[in-house]
Amino acid sequence: MRAHSSPRREHPQPLYELAPGLALARGGPGRTLNVYLLGDVVVDSGVRWSRRRLARQLAGRQLNAHLLSHAHFDHAGCSAWLCHTLGVPLWCGQGDAAAIASGRVDTHGSPWVNRLQRRLAPVTAHPVTRIMHEGDVVAGFEVLEVPGHSPGALAFWRARDRVLVCGDVLANVGLHPSRPRLVLAPAALSSDAETNRRSAGRLAGLRPRLACFGHGFAVSDPGRFASVVQQAAAASS
Ligand SMILES: [Zn+2]
Repeated sequence: MRAHSSPRREHPQPLYELAPGLALARGGPGRTLNVYLLGDVVVDSGVRWSRRRLARQLAGRQLNAHLLSHAHFDHAGCSAWLCHTLGVPLWCGQGDAAAIASGRVDTHGSPWVNRLQRRLAPVTAHPVTRIMHEGDVVAGFEVLEVPGHSPGALAFWRARDRVLVCGDVLANVGLHPSRPRLVLAPAALSSDAETNRRSAGRLAGLRPRLACFGHGFAVSDPGRFASVVQQAAAASS
């Protein structure tokens, strides 16, 4: 990183490679706040307290852009700092651009959650350089517009090896890598839970060989997705 370089930091920490061209960095302990590298593009930046952790992992890497899966406090918490420090532009989905550009990322379904977010975990505003649209390609991944958890939520899909990075459309709350427990983002945390459910259905239809989440371990069971979405639909009907 240019602004905080030191000899030790010229050698970046090795990151966990989930698939060719897809690496995992950590914005928090374990898999609580996942940050992905799609080639030379950093997806998400954890919470505002993730800065030192990310600095250790990203220092010395050649990175070219910062992309948001969605503009919530636990994904855009260090975005302004990251863009300044790396000297890279910020990209996000259309529906989230105004939120991050203004620092008002309170698009959760619950006013109480929004108040708490503004008070406890404010996000620094940063201008958006590029609006990402359905079908755009980032480091070999196709951009999918999957609104619902936030208005401009994005997922990233690579059809050739069926790898999906899905932001918070779903999360894996299972505590062990071999025992996934997938959940749809709850209504209190989503701008439109019903739209998110439809987005989840769309992602389930892709039958990803590897699905990576904003929170939790990646899942390599294509059937798991479909069954979770079916259960969620049944529970709400
Ligand atoms: Zn999240």
